[in-house]
Amino acid sequence: MIERVGIEIVKGIAVAAFLFVTDLDHTLVGDDHAMVELNRHLDDHRQQHGTKIVYSTGRSLTSYRQLKAEKPLLDPDVLIVSVGTEIYLAGSDVPDLSWTEFLSVNWNREMVAAIASQFDLTPQPTSEQRPFKVSYFLTETIAVELLPKLQALLDAKGLDAQLVYSGSKDLDILPRRANKGKAMTFLREQLAIAPDRTVACGDSGNDLSMFCDRAERGIIVGNAMPELLTWHQANPSDHRYLAEKTCAGGILEGLHHFGFLP
Ligand SMILES: [Mg+2]
Repeated sequence: MIERVGIEIVKGIAVAAFLFVTDLDHTLVGDDHAMVELNRHLDDHRQQHGTKIVYSTGRSLTSYRQLKAEKPLLDPDVLIVSVGTEIYLAGSDVPDLSWTEFLSVNWNREMVAAIASQFDLTPQPTSEQRPFKVSYFLTETIAVELLPKLQALLDAKGLDAQLVYSGSKDLDILPRRANKGKAMTFLREQLAIAPDRTVACGDSGNDLSMFCDRAERGIIVGNAMPELLTWHQANPSDHRYLAEKTCAGGILEGLHHFGFLP
């Protein structure tokens, strides 16, 4: 378990810790200069007020480690990988067991993969195939027709699976109980942090579950993919901020907008 966060009074002003959840590729990572500046703010806030930093990525743990070797990322308090299907607390190498057990209910990976194999899909590398994630590459033009047919067949077979299409290329089939948004809720409740002290940042389709019908605050970076922008424009909310700046610069803009940072 990791420590719960609280509110600290500094010179008569309540300075509250917050739960910061961010996607990596094209959200936190993409503008090195802006990321260094954002890292400085976040690390200071964590040290002074106990703010929790969480990375939530579609990458596997292996692929995350490759990115970490290339870019000056902070060490997160919690790491969520493989589109919300694996949660690693406080530097542990073992996924959180209670989340794993929760996802195991009604999940049959072999049957899901067998049904997907009936479609013209290109499997992603072995490193990205995970216990609760079956992944393919798929172009947008084919996806429009294929995805409803695949979902209908999974449903007809009674499989509790959902399709997450992201970045106009990645198709992930996950347990219906798992996605980035549900993993965020699970973690937020474990940490006992209020929704209005929680903020999620993203740029693409697999981040949508962190923004959809939520009391948490959301930041969409200025370089977001059309798949997320179109949805955002059709579903406006005061709880969600579309930044003008790109990547980490957009995150910093949003943190100021919501008052998480002064
Ligand atoms: Mg991304």
